[in-house]
Amino acid sequence: MTVKAVQQCIIPSCGRTYDVYTLKTACEKCGNLVDVRYDDRPNPTLKEVFDERRNHRGNIFNESGVWRFRELINFPGVDCNDFDAYSNVLVSLDGAEGRTKPFHLTRVAEYVGMRSENFWLQFEGSNPTGSFKDNGMATAFTHAKMLGVKRITCASTGNTSSSAAAFAANEGIEAIVFMGEGKIARGKLAQTLDYGARVVQIRGYFDDAMNRVKELVTKKGFYAVNSLNAFRLEGQKTMIYRVLAYLKWRVPDWIVFPGGNLGNTSAFGKAFKELYDWGWIKRMPRVAVVNAEGANTLYRLFNELGVKWNGGRVDDDVIDEYYTDLERRRWKAETKASAIEILKPVNLKKALRTLEYTDGIVVQVSDEEMLDARAIVGRNGFGCELASAATVAGIKKLVSEERIRADETTVGILTGHMLKDMDTIIQYHLDPRNTFSNTPLVVANDLQSILAIL
Ligand SMILES: *Cc1c(COP(=O)(O)O)cnc(C)c1O
Ligand SMILES: [Zn+2]
Repeated sequence: MTVKAVQQCIIPSCGRTYDVYTLKTACEKCGNLVDVRYDDRPNPTLKEVFDERRNHRGNIFNESGVWRFRELINFPGVDCNDFDAYSNVLVSLDGAEGRTKPFHLTRVAEYVGMRSENFWLQFEGSNPTGSFKDNGMATAFTHAKMLGVKRITCASTGNTSSSAAAFAANEGIEAIVFMGEGKIARGKLAQTLDYGARVVQIRGYFDDAMNRVKELVTKKGFYAVNSLNAFRLEGQKTMIYRVLAYLKWRVPDWIVFPGGNLGNTSAFGKAFKELYDWGWIKRMPRVAVVNAEGANTLYRLFNELGVKWNGGRVDDDVIDEYYTDLERRRWKAETKASAIEILKPVNLKKALRTLEYTDGIVVQVSDEEMLDARAIVGRNGFGCELASAATVAGIKKLVSEERIRADETTVGILTGHMLKDMDTIIQYHLDPRNTFSNTPLVVANDLQSILAIL
Protein backbone atom coordinates (compact mmCIF):
# COMPACT_ATOMS: atom_id res chain seq x y z
CA MET A 1 0.00 0.00 0.00
CA THR A 2 1.19 3.49 -0.82
CA VAL A 3 -0.74 6.01 1.18
CA LYS A 4 -1.10 9.31 -0.66
CA ALA A 5 -3.47 11.00 1.76
CA VAL A 6 -3.22 13.00 4.97
CA GLN A 7 -5.58 14.49 7.47
CA GLN A 8 -5.43 18.27 7.37
CA CYS A 9 -6.94 21.02 9.50
CA ILE A 10 -9.72 22.74 7.55
CA ILE A 11 -8.59 26.23 8.55
CA PRO A 12 -6.20 27.44 5.83
CA SER A 13 -4.20 29.69 8.16
CA CYS A 14 -3.45 26.63 10.34
CA GLY A 15 -3.42 23.76 7.85
CA ARG A 16 -1.59 21.35 10.14
CA THR A 17 -1.40 17.84 8.75
CA TYR A 18 -1.55 14.43 10.41
CA ASP A 19 -0.96 11.02 8.89
CA VAL A 20 -3.91 8.72 8.23
CA TYR A 21 -2.95 6.19 10.92
CA THR A 22 -4.66 8.16 13.67
CA LEU A 23 -8.17 9.54 14.03
CA LYS A 24 -8.14 13.30 14.54
CA THR A 25 -11.60 14.55 15.43
CA ALA A 26 -10.03 17.95 16.09
CA CYS A 27 -6.81 19.71 15.08
CA GLU A 28 -4.29 19.62 17.94
CA LYS A 29 -3.15 23.15 17.24
CA CYS A 30 -6.40 25.07 16.76
CA GLY A 31 -9.18 22.66 17.72
CA ASN A 32 -10.99 22.77 14.40
CA LEU A 33 -12.11 19.84 12.26
CA VAL A 34 -9.82 18.02 9.85
CA ASP A 35 -10.34 16.76 6.30
CA VAL A 36 -8.87 13.92 4.32
CA ARG A 37 -6.60 15.38 1.61
CA TYR A 38 -5.24 13.49 -1.40
CA ASP A 39 -1.98 14.06 -3.29
CA ASP A 40 -3.21 12.42 -6.48
CA ARG A 41 -5.38 14.01 -9.11
CA PRO A 42 -7.59 11.18 -10.34
CA ASN A 43 -7.89 11.10 -14.12
CA PRO A 44 -11.36 11.87 -15.57
CA THR A 45 -11.06 8.80 -17.83
CA LEU A 46 -12.03 6.87 -14.69
CA LYS A 47 -15.63 7.94 -15.42
CA GLU A 48 -15.79 5.09 -17.94
CA VAL A 49 -14.21 2.63 -15.53
CA PHE A 50 -16.89 3.47 -12.93
CA ASP A 51 -19.59 2.81 -15.51
CA GLU A 52 -18.09 -0.53 -16.49
CA ARG A 53 -17.96 -1.62 -12.86
CA ARG A 54 -21.75 -1.51 -12.73
CA ASN A 55 -21.42 -4.85 -14.50
CA HIS A 56 -19.78 -6.11 -11.35
CA ARG A 57 -19.36 -9.77 -12.36
CA GLY A 58 -19.47 -10.90 -8.75
CA ASN A 59 -16.84 -8.45 -7.48
CA ILE A 60 -18.50 -7.00 -4.36
CA PHE A 61 -16.27 -3.93 -4.46
CA ASN A 62 -17.61 -3.07 -7.90
CA GLU A 63 -21.13 -3.89 -6.78
CA SER A 64 -20.77 -1.52 -3.81
CA GLY A 65 -21.92 2.00 -4.67
CA VAL A 66 -19.17 3.25 -2.39
CA TRP A 67 -16.15 1.22 -3.50
CA ARG A 68 -17.04 1.37 -7.17
CA PHE A 69 -15.52 4.85 -6.85
CA ARG A 70 -12.51 3.67 -4.82
CA GLU A 71 -9.96 5.76 -6.73
CA LEU A 72 -11.66 8.92 -5.42
CA ILE A 73 -11.65 7.90 -1.75
CA ASN A 74 -8.44 5.93 -1.61
CA PHE A 75 -7.11 7.05 1.79
CA PRO A 76 -5.84 3.51 2.57
CA GLY A 77 -3.60 3.72 -0.50
CA VAL A 78 -4.64 0.40 -2.02
CA ASP A 79 -3.91 -0.70 -5.57
CA CYS A 80 -7.42 -0.19 -6.95
CA ASN A 81 -6.90 -2.75 -9.71
CA ASP A 82 -5.57 -5.55 -7.52
CA PHE A 83 -8.54 -7.40 -6.04
CA ASP A 84 -6.44 -9.48 -3.65
CA ALA A 85 -4.78 -6.36 -2.29
CA TYR A 86 -7.80 -4.12 -1.84
CA SER A 87 -10.24 -6.81 -0.71
CA ASN A 88 -8.10 -7.31 2.41
CA VAL A 89 -8.37 -3.66 3.34
CA LEU A 90 -11.74 -2.24 2.25
CA VAL A 91 -14.81 -2.90 4.41
CA SER A 92 -18.15 -3.62 2.76
CA LEU A 93 -21.45 -5.24 3.70
CA ASP A 94 -20.80 -7.72 0.94
CA GLY A 95 -21.24 -5.04 -1.70
CA ALA A 96 -24.69 -3.98 -0.51
CA GLU A 97 -24.02 -0.39 0.57
CA GLY A 98 -24.64 2.60 -1.64
CA ARG A 99 -26.52 0.82 -4.40
CA THR A 100 -28.74 3.82 -5.10
CA LYS A 101 -29.50 6.16 -7.97
CA PRO A 102 -31.81 9.08 -8.69
CA PHE A 103 -35.48 8.39 -9.51
CA HIS A 104 -38.22 10.46 -11.10
CA LEU A 105 -41.17 10.74 -8.70
CA THR A 106 -43.89 12.41 -10.73
CA ARG A 107 -46.37 13.01 -7.91
CA VAL A 108 -43.68 14.59 -5.81
CA ALA A 109 -42.59 16.73 -8.77
CA GLU A 110 -46.15 17.93 -9.16
CA TYR A 111 -46.45 18.59 -5.42
CA VAL A 112 -43.32 20.74 -5.28
CA GLY A 113 -44.07 22.47 -8.59
CA MET A 114 -41.11 21.15 -10.61
CA ARG A 115 -41.06 19.69 -14.10
CA SER A 116 -40.69 15.95 -13.69
CA GLU A 117 -38.02 15.63 -16.44
CA ASN A 118 -35.50 17.67 -14.51
CA PHE A 119 -36.39 16.59 -10.98
CA TRP A 120 -34.97 13.51 -9.24
CA LEU A 121 -34.90 12.06 -5.76
CA GLN A 122 -32.13 9.69 -4.76
CA PHE A 123 -33.48 7.19 -2.26
CA GLU A 124 -30.73 6.40 0.23
CA GLY A 125 -33.28 4.56 2.36
CA SER A 126 -32.66 1.50 0.20
CA ASN A 127 -29.26 1.01 1.79
CA PRO A 128 -28.94 -2.25 3.75
CA THR A 129 -29.71 -0.66 7.12
CA GLY A 130 -32.22 1.78 5.64
CA SER A 131 -30.31 5.05 5.66
CA PHE A 132 -27.47 6.85 3.86
CA LYS A 133 -25.25 6.25 6.90
CA ASP A 134 -24.08 2.96 5.34
CA ASN A 135 -22.12 4.94 2.74
CA GLY A 136 -20.05 6.50 5.49
CA MET A 137 -19.68 3.44 7.67
CA ALA A 138 -18.01 1.54 4.82
CA THR A 139 -15.15 4.04 4.88
CA ALA A 140 -15.15 4.69 8.65
CA PHE A 141 -14.84 0.97 9.37
CA THR A 142 -12.14 0.63 6.71
CA HIS A 143 -10.19 3.26 8.59
CA ALA A 144 -10.93 1.63 11.96
CA LYS A 145 -9.59 -1.64 10.55
CA MET A 146 -6.41 0.11 9.31
CA LEU A 147 -5.86 1.20 12.90
CA GLY A 148 -6.59 -2.26 14.31
CA VAL A 149 -9.52 -0.93 16.33
CA LYS A 150 -11.48 -3.57 18.27
CA ARG A 151 -14.23 -1.31 19.62
CA ILE A 152 -16.07 1.66 18.16
CA THR A 153 -18.50 4.14 19.64
CA CYS A 154 -20.98 6.76 18.47
CA ALA A 155 -23.76 9.07 19.60
CA SER A 156 -26.89 8.61 17.59
CA THR A 157 -30.48 9.56 16.95
CA GLY A 158 -30.77 5.99 15.64
CA ASN A 159 -29.56 5.65 12.07
CA THR A 160 -25.87 6.06 12.82
CA SER A 161 -26.17 3.43 15.54
CA SER A 162 -28.09 1.03 13.28
CA SER A 163 -25.50 1.34 10.56
CA ALA A 164 -22.52 1.20 12.93
CA ALA A 165 -23.99 -1.85 14.67
CA ALA A 166 -24.44 -3.67 11.36
CA PHE A 167 -20.89 -2.99 10.16
CA ALA A 168 -19.48 -3.85 13.59
CA ALA A 169 -21.34 -7.16 13.58
CA ASN A 170 -19.97 -7.92 10.13
CA GLU A 171 -16.40 -7.12 11.12
CA GLY A 172 -16.46 -8.71 14.58
CA ILE A 173 -15.90 -5.34 16.25
CA GLU A 174 -17.63 -4.26 19.45
CA ALA A 175 -20.04 -1.29 19.13
CA ILE A 176 -21.09 0.93 22.05
CA VAL A 177 -23.71 3.51 21.14
CA PHE A 178 -25.08 6.44 23.09
CA MET A 179 -28.57 7.84 22.66
CA GLY A 180 -30.74 10.47 24.25
CA GLU A 181 -33.29 8.74 26.45
CA GLY A 182 -36.56 8.18 24.61
CA LYS A 183 -35.26 10.15 21.63
CA ILE A 184 -35.11 7.36 19.11
CA ALA A 185 -37.61 5.93 16.65
CA ARG A 186 -38.52 2.35 17.47
CA GLY A 187 -37.40 0.84 14.17
CA LYS A 188 -33.92 2.25 14.70
CA LEU A 189 -33.74 1.04 18.29
CA ALA A 190 -34.89 -2.41 17.17
CA GLN A 191 -32.12 -2.57 14.54
CA THR A 192 -29.39 -1.38 16.88
CA LEU A 193 -30.34 -3.92 19.54
CA ASP A 194 -30.79 -6.71 17.03
CA TYR A 195 -27.40 -6.18 15.38
CA GLY A 196 -25.87 -6.62 18.81
CA ALA A 197 -24.55 -3.19 19.78
CA ARG A 198 -24.35 -2.20 23.44
CA VAL A 199 -26.91 0.56 23.82
CA VAL A 200 -26.49 3.24 26.46
CA GLN A 201 -29.37 5.65 26.93
CA ILE A 202 -28.26 8.91 28.50
CA ARG A 203 -30.66 11.04 30.47
CA GLY A 204 -30.58 13.87 27.96
CA TYR A 205 -30.65 14.70 24.28
CA PHE A 206 -28.57 13.79 21.25
CA ASP A 207 -26.31 16.80 21.85
CA ASP A 208 -25.59 15.50 25.37
CA ALA A 209 -24.76 12.03 24.05
CA MET A 210 -22.50 13.63 21.43
CA ASN A 211 -20.60 15.53 24.12
CA ARG A 212 -20.03 12.36 26.14
CA VAL A 213 -18.73 10.57 23.04
CA LYS A 214 -16.33 13.46 22.35
CA GLU A 215 -15.00 13.01 25.89
CA LEU A 216 -14.52 9.28 25.36
CA VAL A 217 -12.55 10.10 22.21
CA THR A 218 -10.31 12.83 23.59
CA LYS A 219 -9.85 11.46 27.11
CA LYS A 220 -9.99 7.70 26.58
CA GLY A 221 -8.92 7.17 22.97
CA PHE A 222 -12.19 5.65 21.79
CA TYR A 223 -12.77 5.37 18.04
CA ALA A 224 -15.91 7.35 17.08
CA VAL A 225 -17.82 6.75 13.86
CA ASN A 226 -19.89 9.92 14.08
CA SER A 227 -19.58 12.35 11.20
CA LEU A 228 -16.80 14.26 12.95
CA ASN A 229 -14.80 11.29 11.69
CA ALA A 230 -13.38 12.65 8.43
CA PHE A 231 -13.00 9.15 6.98
CA ARG A 232 -16.72 8.54 7.31
CA LEU A 233 -17.45 11.64 5.24
CA GLU A 234 -15.27 10.26 2.44
CA GLY A 235 -17.84 7.47 1.97
CA GLN A 236 -20.72 9.94 2.00
CA LYS A 237 -19.18 11.74 -0.99
CA THR A 238 -20.15 8.75 -3.11
CA MET A 239 -23.83 9.78 -2.95
CA ILE A 240 -22.78 12.71 -5.15
CA TYR A 241 -20.68 10.49 -7.42
CA ARG A 242 -23.75 8.34 -8.05
CA VAL A 243 -25.90 11.38 -8.82
CA LEU A 244 -23.29 12.67 -11.26
CA ALA A 245 -22.59 9.30 -12.87
CA TYR A 246 -26.32 8.89 -13.44
CA LEU A 247 -26.54 12.36 -15.02
CA LYS A 248 -23.50 11.52 -17.20
CA TRP A 249 -21.48 14.01 -15.17
CA ARG A 250 -23.66 16.95 -16.09
CA VAL A 251 -23.80 19.06 -12.94
CA PRO A 252 -27.35 19.70 -11.69
CA ASP A 253 -28.39 23.22 -10.76
CA TRP A 254 -29.44 22.24 -7.25
CA ILE A 255 -28.75 19.53 -4.67
CA VAL A 256 -31.20 19.57 -1.76
CA PHE A 257 -31.06 17.55 1.47
CA PRO A 258 -31.79 17.77 5.22
CA GLY A 259 -29.26 19.24 7.65
CA GLY A 260 -28.76 17.60 11.06
CA ASN A 261 -25.18 17.16 12.19
CA LEU A 262 -24.25 18.54 8.75
CA GLY A 263 -22.11 15.59 7.69
CA ASN A 264 -23.74 15.40 4.29
CA THR A 265 -23.50 19.15 3.82
CA SER A 266 -19.78 18.84 4.46
CA ALA A 267 -19.21 15.71 2.38
CA PHE A 268 -21.21 16.92 -0.62
CA GLY A 269 -19.39 20.24 -0.79
CA LYS A 270 -16.05 18.46 -0.54
CA ALA A 271 -17.03 16.01 -3.27
CA PHE A 272 -17.96 18.79 -5.69
CA LYS A 273 -14.98 20.97 -4.87
CA GLU A 274 -12.52 18.11 -5.40
CA LEU A 275 -14.10 17.13 -8.71
CA TYR A 276 -13.97 20.76 -9.77
CA ASP A 277 -10.31 21.12 -8.75
CA TRP A 278 -9.47 17.85 -10.53
CA GLY A 279 -11.12 19.08 -13.72
CA TRP A 280 -13.90 16.47 -13.69
CA ILE A 281 -16.70 19.06 -13.67
CA LYS A 282 -16.72 22.57 -15.10
CA ARG A 283 -19.01 24.29 -12.63
CA MET A 284 -20.35 23.89 -9.10
CA PRO A 285 -24.03 23.22 -8.35
CA ARG A 286 -25.84 25.14 -5.63
CA VAL A 287 -26.78 23.27 -2.45
CA ALA A 288 -29.86 23.95 -0.37
CA VAL A 289 -29.68 22.63 3.20
CA VAL A 290 -33.04 22.15 4.91
CA ASN A 291 -33.31 22.55 8.68
CA ALA A 292 -36.30 21.67 10.82
CA GLU A 293 -37.69 24.82 12.44
CA GLY A 294 -37.21 23.23 15.85
CA ALA A 295 -33.53 22.48 15.23
CA ASN A 296 -32.41 25.37 13.08
CA THR A 297 -28.94 26.35 14.23
CA LEU A 298 -27.47 26.55 10.72
CA TYR A 299 -30.44 28.55 9.51
CA ARG A 300 -30.13 31.03 12.37
CA LEU A 301 -26.38 31.41 12.24
CA PHE A 302 -26.09 31.63 8.44
CA ASN A 303 -29.20 33.59 7.52
CA GLU A 304 -29.89 35.73 10.55
CA LEU A 305 -26.54 36.20 12.26
CA GLY A 306 -24.50 36.34 9.05
CA VAL A 307 -21.95 33.70 10.05
CA LYS A 308 -19.98 32.75 6.93
CA TRP A 309 -16.95 30.61 6.10
CA ASN A 310 -15.18 33.71 4.88
CA GLY A 311 -12.17 31.83 3.50
CA GLY A 312 -11.68 30.10 6.85
CA ARG A 313 -11.97 33.20 9.03
CA VAL A 314 -15.21 32.20 10.72
CA ASP A 315 -16.53 34.53 13.40
CA ASP A 316 -16.26 32.12 16.36
CA ASP A 317 -17.50 34.74 18.82
CA VAL A 318 -20.93 34.92 17.21
CA ILE A 319 -21.22 31.12 17.30
CA ASP A 320 -20.09 30.92 20.93
CA GLU A 321 -22.51 33.66 21.94
CA TYR A 322 -25.33 31.89 20.13
CA TYR A 323 -24.69 28.63 21.98
CA THR A 324 -24.27 30.40 25.32
CA ASP A 325 -27.59 32.09 24.77
CA LEU A 326 -29.27 28.75 23.92
CA GLU A 327 -27.92 27.29 27.14
CA ARG A 328 -29.00 30.26 29.20
CA ARG A 329 -32.52 29.85 27.88
CA ARG A 330 -32.30 26.05 28.32
CA TRP A 331 -33.31 25.76 24.69
CA LYS A 332 -33.81 22.22 23.41
CA ALA A 333 -34.15 20.91 19.89
CA GLU A 334 -37.77 20.01 19.21
CA THR A 335 -38.98 18.31 16.05
CA LYS A 336 -40.72 15.06 15.19
CA ALA A 337 -37.97 14.54 12.59
CA SER A 338 -35.69 12.95 15.20
CA ALA A 339 -32.81 12.31 12.76
CA ILE A 340 -32.24 16.06 12.49
CA GLU A 341 -33.17 17.01 16.06
CA ILE A 342 -29.72 18.47 16.66
CA LEU A 343 -28.87 21.91 18.03
CA LYS A 344 -25.07 21.78 17.97
CA PRO A 345 -24.07 20.32 14.61
CA VAL A 346 -20.51 19.05 14.89
CA ASN A 347 -19.72 19.79 11.26
CA LEU A 348 -20.86 23.41 11.36
CA LYS A 349 -17.69 24.94 9.94
CA LYS A 350 -17.32 22.41 7.15
CA ALA A 351 -20.94 23.12 6.29
CA LEU A 352 -20.26 26.86 6.13
CA ARG A 353 -17.39 26.08 3.79
CA THR A 354 -19.72 24.09 1.52
CA LEU A 355 -22.17 26.98 1.47
CA GLU A 356 -19.37 29.26 0.29
CA TYR A 357 -18.07 26.79 -2.35
CA THR A 358 -21.53 26.28 -3.80
CA ASP A 359 -23.21 29.63 -3.27
CA GLY A 360 -25.51 27.55 -1.09
CA ILE A 361 -28.61 28.48 0.85
CA VAL A 362 -30.33 27.30 4.04
CA VAL A 363 -34.09 27.03 4.52
CA GLN A 364 -36.20 25.82 7.39
CA VAL A 365 -39.47 23.88 7.33
CA SER A 366 -42.07 23.08 9.97
CA ASP A 367 -43.02 19.59 11.17
CA GLU A 368 -46.38 20.00 9.41
CA GLU A 369 -44.67 20.76 6.11
CA MET A 370 -42.45 17.69 6.51
CA LEU A 371 -45.37 15.46 7.50
CA ASP A 372 -47.36 16.42 4.41
CA ALA A 373 -44.33 16.15 2.14
CA ARG A 374 -43.54 12.72 3.59
CA ALA A 375 -47.07 11.56 2.87
CA ILE A 376 -46.70 12.62 -0.78
CA VAL A 377 -43.52 10.58 -1.14
CA GLY A 378 -45.59 7.67 0.14
CA ARG A 379 -48.37 8.38 -2.35
CA ASN A 380 -45.77 7.98 -5.03
CA GLY A 381 -45.33 4.36 -3.93
CA PHE A 382 -42.03 5.12 -2.27
CA GLY A 383 -41.76 6.26 1.29
CA CYS A 384 -39.12 7.89 3.44
CA GLU A 385 -38.69 8.81 7.05
CA LEU A 386 -39.78 12.20 8.30
CA ALA A 387 -36.35 13.87 8.34
CA SER A 388 -35.86 12.93 4.68
CA ALA A 389 -39.07 14.72 3.77
CA ALA A 390 -37.35 17.96 4.78
CA THR A 391 -35.84 17.67 1.30
CA VAL A 392 -39.24 17.67 -0.39
CA ALA A 393 -40.76 20.31 1.88
CA GLY A 394 -37.67 22.46 1.33
CA ILE A 395 -37.85 22.19 -2.46
CA LYS A 396 -41.55 23.05 -2.37
CA LYS A 397 -40.80 26.15 -0.33
CA LEU A 398 -37.92 27.22 -2.56
CA VAL A 399 -39.97 26.76 -5.72
CA SER A 400 -42.86 28.75 -4.28
CA GLU A 401 -40.44 31.53 -3.33
CA GLU A 402 -39.03 31.34 -6.87
CA ARG A 403 -35.56 30.65 -5.58
CA ILE A 404 -35.56 27.34 -7.47
CA ARG A 405 -37.03 27.68 -10.97
CA ALA A 406 -39.29 24.90 -12.21
CA ASP A 407 -36.94 24.16 -15.10
CA GLU A 408 -33.73 24.01 -13.08
CA THR A 409 -32.20 20.55 -12.76
CA THR A 410 -32.75 19.55 -9.16
CA VAL A 411 -31.73 16.44 -7.25
CA GLY A 412 -33.00 15.83 -3.73
CA ILE A 413 -31.61 13.22 -1.35
CA LEU A 414 -34.07 11.09 0.60
CA THR A 415 -31.94 10.05 3.54
CA GLY A 416 -33.86 7.25 5.29
CA HIS A 417 -36.48 4.52 4.94
CA MET A 418 -40.12 4.95 5.95
CA LEU A 419 -40.19 1.83 8.13
CA LYS A 420 -37.67 3.41 10.51
CA ASP A 421 -40.41 5.32 12.27
CA MET A 422 -43.85 3.85 11.74
CA ASP A 423 -45.43 5.50 14.78
CA THR A 424 -45.21 8.95 13.18
CA ILE A 425 -46.73 7.66 9.95
CA ILE A 426 -49.63 5.83 11.55
CA GLN A 427 -50.39 8.80 13.78
CA TYR A 428 -50.53 11.00 10.69
CA HIS A 429 -52.93 8.75 8.84
CA LEU A 430 -55.20 8.18 11.83
CA ASP A 431 -55.93 11.90 12.09
CA PRO A 432 -58.44 12.89 9.38
CA ARG A 433 -57.49 16.56 9.81
CA ASN A 434 -54.14 15.95 8.14
CA THR A 435 -54.13 17.00 4.49
CA PHE A 436 -53.11 13.65 3.02
CA SER A 437 -54.29 11.32 5.78
CA ASN A 438 -55.64 7.92 4.83
CA THR A 439 -57.73 6.80 7.76
CA PRO A 440 -58.84 3.15 7.95
CA LEU A 441 -62.58 2.53 7.60
CA VAL A 442 -64.23 0.54 10.36
CA VAL A 443 -67.21 -1.50 9.35
CA ALA A 444 -69.54 -4.23 10.64
CA ASN A 445 -68.63 -7.77 9.73
CA ASP A 446 -71.14 -8.34 6.91
CA LEU A 447 -71.10 -7.89 3.16
CA GLN A 448 -73.97 -5.42 3.05
CA SER A 449 -72.24 -2.99 5.40
CA ILE A 450 -69.03 -3.38 3.47
CA LEU A 451 -70.72 -2.68 0.13
CA ALA A 452 -72.42 0.32 1.67
CA ILE A 453 -69.17 2.15 2.28
CA LEU A 454 -67.28 1.24 -0.91
C1 LIG B 1 -28.32 11.30 9.91
C2 LIG B 1 -29.54 11.67 9.18
C3 LIG B 1 -29.77 12.98 8.73
C4 LIG B 1 -28.84 14.10 9.05
O1 LIG B 1 -27.69 14.08 8.26
P1 LIG B 1 -26.43 14.99 8.62
O2 LIG B 1 -25.39 14.54 7.68
O3 LIG B 1 -26.07 14.68 10.04
O4 LIG B 1 -26.83 16.40 8.46
C5 LIG B 1 -30.90 13.23 7.98
N1 LIG B 1 -31.80 12.25 7.70
C6 LIG B 1 -31.61 10.99 8.13
C7 LIG B 1 -32.63 9.96 7.82
C8 LIG B 1 -30.48 10.66 8.87
O5 LIG B 1 -30.31 9.41 9.30
ZN1 LIG C 1 -5.68 23.64 12.97
